[in-house]
Amino acid sequence: MRLSNYNECIFCGSSKLKLHFNQNFTHNFYTIAIKNDFKLSDGFFKKMKIFECQKCHTIQNNPWFSKETSFKIFNEVYGQHNRNWSNVINFFQNGIKPNHGKLFYILNKNLKIRNYCEFNVPFMGLMIDFFSQEYRENINFYKNIFNYSLKYLSSRQVAGMKKASIKKKQKEAKKNLNKLEEIKIKNKLKNNIKKSIIIDNSYLSWLYNDNYKSVNSRSLASKILDIEIEDFNLIKKTKRYDLFGIFHTLDHTHQPKKILDFALNNSKYVLIYCHSDQNLEKQHLFSFTDKFESYLKKKKFFCKNITFEIEKKTKSKEIYLLCSKFYEINLKL
Ligand SMILES: [Zn+2]
Repeated sequence: MRLSNYNECIFCGSSKLKLHFNQNFTHNFYTIAIKNDFKLSDGFFKKMKIFECQKCHTIQNNPWFSKETSFKIFNEVYGQHNRNWSNVINFFQNGIKPNHGKLFYILNKNLKIRNYCEFNVPFMGLMIDFFSQEYRENINFYKNIFNYSLKYLSSRQVAGMKKASIKKKQKEAKKNLNKLEEIKIKNKLKNNIKKSIIIDNSYLSWLYNDNYKSVNSRSLASKILDIEIEDFNLIKKTKRYDLFGIFHTLDHTHQPKKILDFALNNSKYVLIYCHSDQNLEKQHLFSFTDKFESYLKKKKFFCKNITFEIEKKTKSKEIYLLCSKFYEINLKL
């Protein structure tokens, strides 16, 4: 297997990359899977050095896996986005929402959100919070809606079956879809906020194999959570959002600046949740750092670090940045 060179900053394009002070390498769940499946040595990983962009302070591995290998990593080696699915299962089976501290409460109180969008992965951000606001709080309802959705989506998988079985599956699909629609109407509290996910099919992100019980997370999102899935390449420039959420996905696209620029240009506010670590693991091409905030401010964006304000209990080094191209950020807590 050959490594590819990434001599320019993947975020801002600058070639001013400096060897980073921290060249720490330890294996984790992901790198062990990559090592085993591709039959690599530790020496292979150690060839990847960490560089820091002197302009935007992104840290980046160079050399790193080729695009083709990276696609394989995200779609074969560990195609399922574990945290994404844990969030789904925790909520629809136990009623526990993804932990973002008081983030949803604060944003909801301060911003008028009628049109909300997230990027690439459906269950890492606030979609479940919006769902729980729109439907009655009832654990049986949550369990049922999840089950009917999984059953409906998987009952369409009939390849290789005999005619009689296909007919049976068709009946099942109809029954589960009807049940799903019925309980949604019964438990609906208020009108939907317009919700969408923009996807860019990046080779740095989970796609076709982000499945649980053979159901893809994006298919589930659109069924259960009334979310429109839209392709970034086909999106109209006239789209407007009140809030655009980017939850650990800006470092999982090969075009992070293009995505962030789109979000900032087309939304009143943009929430960026990302790592702020000076330690870059080898399964990641790049990561933002705690200096990303000062870079955005230098670029004349309004930007407020609200990590402290949301009072989330976590040990990981991460930041929540609320940004805007148009509005100053004044939050009532
Ligand atoms: Zn840069």
